[in-house]
Amino acid sequence: MGAIDTPDSIFDVIVVGAGPAGGSAARAAAAAGARVCVLERSSMPRYKTCGGGLVGLSTDHVGIDLAGLVRATVSSLTMTWDGRYTVSRGRTDARPWLSMVMRTDLDAALLAAAQAAGAIVRTGVQVLGLLESGGDPADRQAGAVAPGADDDWVTVRVRGGADLRARVVIGADGASGRCGTHVGVRCDQVDVGLEGEFVVDAALADRWAGRLLIDWGPVPGSYGWLFPKGRVLTVGVIGDRAQGAALRGYYERFVERLGLTAAPRQHDSGHLTRVRAVDSPLRRGRVLVAGDAAGLLDPWTREGISFALRSGRLAGEAAAGAVGAPGAAGSVGSAALDAYPDRVEAVLGPEMAAGRKVLGAFTRRPGVMHALMSGPGTFGLFTRLIEGRTTVAHQLRRPGVRAAVAALSR
Ligand SMILES: Cc1cc2nc3c(=O)[nH]c(=O)nc-3n(C[C@H](O)[C@H](O)[C@H](O)COP(=O)(O)OP(=O)(O)OC[C@H]3O[C@@H](n4cnc5c(N)ncnc54)[C@H](O)[C@@H]3O)c2cc1C
Repeated sequence: MGAIDTPDSIFDVIVVGAGPAGGSAARAAAAAGARVCVLERSSMPRYKTCGGGLVGLSTDHVGIDLAGLVRATVSSLTMTWDGRYTVSRGRTDARPWLSMVMRTDLDAALLAAAQAAGAIVRTGVQVLGLLESGGDPADRQAGAVAPGADDDWVTVRVRGGADLRARVVIGADGASGRCGTHVGVRCDQVDVGLEGEFVVDAALADRWAGRLLIDWGPVPGSYGWLFPKGRVLTVGVIGDRAQGAALRGYYERFVERLGLTAAPRQHDSGHLTRVRAVDSPLRRGRVLVAGDAAGLLDPWTREGISFALRSGRLAGEAAAGAVGAPGAAGSVGSAALDAYPDRVEAVLGPEMAAGRKVLGAFTRRPGVMHALMSGPGTFGLFTRLIEGRTTVAHQLRRPGVRAAVAALSR
């Protein structure tokens, strides 16, 4: 299809994907005054394979009222190592430290907030590819690309429809999206998560109410979880995709151990997560990537919602700045796009580097990590990490912690 330029096909910013990264990006750009369109291939609300566990950094950065969305909160923890060495702990203040949502609800609410800020949403639209006619705006400023009206646009190809055009595109289309490929995102860790939503009777629901289960898995670097959400238990495992058959066996044994094999499943699916290589690009020309599309998530826990929310917002602000939207902070033009990778690195880089280190130790010595993390002294630290009151990066600045993690990684 060729470009047919009508007001319905030209935007300041096109956001590809309506997960937490896309919703946040669209909201930030629209709130700053940019004309924004979100393109989502599914109809919304849609299911996404995800535990829906919101750590403190997610609730801090979600930017919407979660009151009607949170299905359950967690204030106690059971930790096992491949189903053995069970340790259960709770905090005496019983203050919840992890909130449970359904991604169907969360993503729909984030998209509604973006719409309320002025973003246009088109669902059932699959993006097939991006074309940048004018090259990198920095090259244009330097005179390396001849100026021309058409050079300022990214053309967005969609299945079965006319092309769209935007001054800036934000790729928030997840781990297997087209935008990451366009930008050249490189990942050095690819995991697969297997997860089901199990409908249980009241007795089983009560048994897990307010309690999170973490099981350090038999496949190196893997773990499993049970997230209680009332009459639904979200149960899953995640680990190295190369160990897919072993992970499948781990998932089935985990479900069996929990007495859930015969329980009805609302969903049962798998999904990849990809962690970016340290020097992987976050931008190419007028295209920025955020969230899973950029490989931004914690390499150890594979927690990604807080990374998607934060990088999405930064991308939305940068895009609005680049198009000169009236309420945008910062400089106008390519400088705003240039600054995006550095901002992401500054905020998320240290957390990802710390997650890599802990994953290294955990992969080599899961038993020692289990003993350390389930100990009475470290349980408080574990909950403070989940609450976002401290970060692994911050803890690794302490010489004792750094030395212990380095020793365990050998
Ligand atoms: C099993 C599992 C459990 C997890 N549990 C947790 C958890 O409990 N807590 C946590 O913080 N993180 C968790 N994560 C990670 C988290 O799910 C992701 O990091 C998060 O979804 C990333 O959000 P996103 O917006 O970047 O991408 P996504 O949520 O994947 O959204 C991408 C969107 O883009 C759309 N899209 C894709 N391609 C196109 C296209 N070509 N055109 C148009 N639209 C397109 C998709 O339909 C989708 O709506 C888990 C991951 C897995 C695999």
